[in-house]
Amino acid sequence: MTTSGNGRCPSCGEELRYRGQYPAVSRTDNETEVCSFCGQAEAFADFYGIPYPEWPIEGRAAYAAYLLDHGAQVNVLELEEKVADFVERGGVEPPSPAS
Ligand SMILES: [Zn+2]
Repeated sequence: MTTSGNGRCPSCGEELRYRGQYPAVSRTDNETEVCSFCGQAEAFADFYGIPYPEWPIEGRAAYAAYLLDHGAQVNVLELEEKVADFVERGGVEPPSPAS
């Protein structure tokens, strides 16, 4: 794996540890580490048949907007924020007891 030395994601330019999550390996070369958001954004790009944007794109919101502009049906940033919130709350919550 290739890790950029400055702790920044080479794709979006924001911190590599997106909300404390471990980096992902970019699909662009299966080598370079990107933040987990950009890893998901690349998966969405593949799903919708959208070419990856040139690096660096100016931030995660710009990446999400790029995907929406190119036909994505989901705002990947909103989705990833929900996932990060879920993880920060401790993941799976037990179902509330039926009463
Ligand atoms: Zn990134």
